[in-house]
Amino acid sequence: MKKQIAILGSTGSIGMKALEVIKTFPDYFGAEVLTAFNNADLLIKQAIEFKPNVVVIGNDNYYQKVFDVLDPIDIKVYAGNRAIEQVLEMESIDQVLLGIGGFSGLKPLLSALHNKKSVALANKESLVVAGDLVSKIARENNAPIIPVDSEHSAIFQCLIGEHNNPIDKIVLTASGGPFRGISKKILEQVKPSDALKHPIWRMGNKVTIDSATLMNKGLEAIEAHWLFDIAPSKIEVIVHPQAIIHSMVYFADGVVKAQLGIPDMFVPIQFALSYPNRIPNKLPSLDLLQLKQLDFEAPDIKKFRNLALAFEALEKGGNMPCILNAANEIAVQAFLTERIGFNQIPEVIEKSMQTSFFIKKPTLEDYLETDKLTREKALRSLKITE
Ligand code: MG
Repeated sequence: MKKQIAILGSTGSIGMKALEVIKTFPDYFGAEVLTAFNNADLLIKQAIEFKPNVVVIGNDNYYQKVFDVLDPIDIKVYAGNRAIEQVLEMESIDQVLLGIGGFSGLKPLLSALHNKKSVALANKESLVVAGDLVSKIARENNAPIIPVDSEHSAIFQCLIGEHNNPIDKIVLTASGGPFRGISKKILEQVKPSDALKHPIWRMGNKVTIDSATLMNKGLEAIEAHWLFDIAPSKIEVIVHPQAIIHSMVYFADGVVKAQLGIPDMFVPIQFALSYPNRIPNKLPSLDLLQLKQLDFEAPDIKKFRNLALAFEALEKGGNMPCILNAANEIAVQAFLTERIGFNQIPEVIEKSMQTSFFIKKPTLEDYLETDKLTREKALRSLKITE
């Protein structure tokens, strides 16, 4: 039977890849729901091609435009952020692929879990911000979360069949981004366009900048803590520029399992949708003889302080990762619009972590409030009005 997928954030880089997967396996998957926030033109184009039952455009200003094209071809059109959460009640949705980036992925994720949907999760910020709450609601509703992030997909695959076998540590691999080996002095001068040239992965702007600052790996460490219930002290990051080993698990008996493959998000997305099965595809196979060698080095946390800040937030717990994430989203946006330099990104985050109100056991309201206040304060300190 065909699995009907709701793709939240279908016009983003993960959403577009997910549609490629659906197009490649028309006998296995169908697109039941597509949602986008601003990109009405692409949403319309995708809907005409994939014929979902429902589309949601987050920004209501584009509702009429989308409605006028899709209503005549029998596609239901809704608008607004609330609608994105509400459509997840649909019985016909077998799985939700959450490709919305940033903090805005949190509410749709909670809605999917409340509706007992299996979630293929690409949004890491939701787990970073409110991992305890997300895991609790997933557990209570028996709703599985299948990671899409390549590192977490790797760990997930290494753990299949291991049940509760003792783990010494997990190692997240990092490609190191475009600025690996560059001096701090030169980093002061880098432009957004330099940071957006990732050597391996083609991704959205936010995650590409996070890769350049290594914040992405810090967020992934927090994500791994919640997904796999593993202590922060047992999570390690290692730079591996070829991005062939997607991550590893060290078991207590000295055995190390790693997942290898070509770096293409098609693979973890396909696996998250086909799990527990594997479907043959036509991707090129990994040629180790051609690669010849794999390199590894320790991350430079003096130069890329974001990674250390993320571990600090993870250790501290409570709403600290939420503060870290909100300040980072503001700092990345300020860097992309050339209001601050690359080396100022960690300064903005550190200042927010030092000056925000700490809550040990936050509720959902506390998280929403923390996110809002941290953003406002960070913007004020940068003298930016939204
Ligand atoms: Mg990743």
